[in-house]
Amino acid sequence: MARDGMAPGRLDAATHWPGIIEVYRDFLPVGPSTPVVSLCEGATPLIEAPRLSERVGAEVYLKVEGANPTGSFKDRGMTMAISKACERGAKAVICASTGNTSASAAAYAARAGLSCAVLIPEGYIALGKLAQALIYGAKVLQVRANFDGALAIVRELAEKAPVTVVNSINPDRLEGQKSSSFEIVDVLGDAPDYCFIPVGNAGNITAYWRGFQEYEKAGRSTKLPAMMGFQAAGAAPIVVGHPVKSPDTVATAIRIGNPASWKGALDAAEGSGGSVRSVTDAQILDAYRFLAAQESVFCEPASAASVAGLLAYGAPAGSRVVCILTGNGLKDPDGAISQVSVPDAVDATLDDVLAGLDW
Ligand SMILES: *Cc1c(COP(=O)(O)O)cnc(C)c1O
Repeated sequence: MARDGMAPGRLDAATHWPGIIEVYRDFLPVGPSTPVVSLCEGATPLIEAPRLSERVGAEVYLKVEGANPTGSFKDRGMTMAISKACERGAKAVICASTGNTSASAAAYAARAGLSCAVLIPEGYIALGKLAQALIYGAKVLQVRANFDGALAIVRELAEKAPVTVVNSINPDRLEGQKSSSFEIVDVLGDAPDYCFIPVGNAGNITAYWRGFQEYEKAGRSTKLPAMMGFQAAGAAPIVVGHPVKSPDTVATAIRIGNPASWKGALDAAEGSGGSVRSVTDAQILDAYRFLAAQESVFCEPASAASVAGLLAYGAPAGSRVVCILTGNGLKDPDGAISQVSVPDAVDATLDDVLAGLDW
């Protein structure tokens, strides 16, 4: 879909996407003197999902957040968090991370010339994300704790040392992340009826809800979507109503037992007429494979929780649904490989290849 004013047949410099801060400046806490640290994040594809639509009897779109510069929606929040940290004169940033926050923080910190420290839960991080944080030059420390334990140390550390925490407890993060709602409304011409979204620390569902509300208030949409949040069954504190001590799920990005934005998620669900529910790992992996094989979108297991929720609970006939796919499938190659069987090598003869292909 060509943007307004885009000349056919060439990429028009005037409509080049400069990143979410420049585009949505009026809705963000930035001023003329805020240094904008951007990798042109945002403007991610909102693609129709014909097979999913047919299966659930609704009009379903996928918001492909894995198309952001470091491969997840975290970049929307990080451009804001790092820009504001620079504005305040910070020299260093720190985060605890299940992976994507660390990759994004490392990239944006490098761009801004800040040093970046990352605490990751030992053994619970997808390989692609660890590779990113290291290659962008962050100081990475594996700690013997789960995510919640690592975040507790980060909070404590920030009280003692002059560093900025860029986890989603940093309010600038959520401000940036709400930009995805703006894009959805801009592309569809109005808000959808439902927004299905994975929930881990619950910052993103909080941010999306805020974005939809602000846009409606500004007259950019005529309605608000019901926010449908999905946790993994083994890491579903909001669903069960109390923190989960040892959260467990294949969806590492949402393996969180005590969400920082718990209240934000409840407000979003209750205020919008939606809900927060859980999906099993089996349902998540089914949706993960379905998305790749039927809709050609390779997302992370955690991202597929949104579509798993749609497949499990459905949506009213004919309603317009947007599922948020939070991160890129290439982040977690081991997760993907474990879902398929890798073929053995055959000899390089036509007969062997034909036999191998079963043609
Ligand atoms: C961070 C993340 C989530 C969870 O988002 P929250 O804001 O913590 O709820 C889901 N999926 C992916 C891929 C993520 O990186």
